Amino acid sequence: LRDGDPVIENQISVCVRKRPINDKERRRKEVDVISVRTKNQLIVHEPKQKVDLTKYLENQQFRFDYVFDDTCENELVYRFTAKPLVKTIFEGGMATCFAYGQTGSGKTHTMGGEFKGKQQNFKNGIYGLVAQDVFRLLSHPKYIKNNYIVSASFFEIYGKLVFDLLAKKQRLRVLEDGKQQVQVVGLTERVVAKVEHVFELIQKGSLERTSGQTSANSNSSRSHAVFQIILRKSGSRHVAGKFSLIDLAGNERGADNNKSNRQTRIEGADINKSLLALKECIRALGRKGLICLFVKELIASDNLDDVQNTIPEDEIAEENMDIDEELARAEEKRLQISSLEWELR
Ligand code: ADP
Ligand code: MG
Repeated sequence: LRDGDPVIENQISVCVRKRPINDKERRRKEVDVISVRTKNQLIVHEPKQKVDLTKYLENQQFRFDYVFDDTCENELVYRFTAKPLVKTIFEGGMATCFAYGQTGSGKTHTMGGEFKGKQQNFKNGIYGLVAQDVFRLLSHPKYIKNNYIVSASFFEIYGKLVFDLLAKKQRLRVLEDGKQQVQVVGLTERVVAKVEHVFELIQKGSLERTSGQTSANSNSSRSHAVFQIILRKSGSRHVAGKFSLIDLAGNERGADNNKSNRQTRIEGADINKSLLALKECIRALGRKGLICLFVKELIASDNLDDVQNTIPEDEIAEENMDIDEELARAEEKRLQISSLEWELR
């Protein structure tokens, strides 16, 4: 928001965050197959096998608006993704930020805040960081005269059901109003006077989302969570600006569901259906202020087809790059990997 801060010029921006390889993957001798080349390019090193059984890596390059490697922290990811949109909602716009990716890829870590053991730091997730900037901008000379009132809501979509995360998971109905606007009827909207109150709501809603995980219908990775910050001018019911921050359900591959039970398969089908619908909406919208934050699990060879399937084809651009440089890097990576003697599955 200061001079020199990144400005998202496109109506839709797609970014990737790579998460660090974890202990479990390290124990299983899984290897990192993603190299972040520049701030907007990454290479997927796909392990392949020739007929004579020699192993080799096939490198594919992808471009995004931004690519964050596994050393980047939430604040940095925020600065280049959601932060430029805070201004949008102060100027009468709607902004949306999605985290999309497989379960375990770091969506909740990014949106809700970093985990320290079981504790989550709600101040440094995208939700909390947006809230802090919203409160900062309220007193900005340019906006102070608007007398904005800030409120927040938090709900969860599981299959065809919607639950209010700020009202003990009360079931809500979704209806279209006379203006063909979709409304979540009865959704709690809390007016917040200071940013600490927003942190409390984020915490409350997040705990509500995860605490019921043992009951079959409330596993957090199988539902979409929507956190919204709403601006209204004092004394008006009209929404002046709204930021929707969405922690999407895990986009598990169909193949992973073969071994699972019926309920899990139905959930998987619902999730895929809704993610497909989302894709269509994004295509249709292309509206200013919409941003997607793709958080992909970019580790482990068995996820590779997933990586490729989820990146829309028109996003994949062949890069005019120095081929010698790429080959040298690939060779370097190949040597690194073969020295680990890992098995292809
Ligand atoms: P998801 O919500 O996509 O299922 P989580 O956010 O719960 O995934 O992340 C899964 C695990 O990986 C958590 O223990 C989280 O702390 C860890 N993790 C995810 N992203 C990162 C990251 N960028 N740096 C460190 N740990 C991460
Ligand atoms: Mg999650």
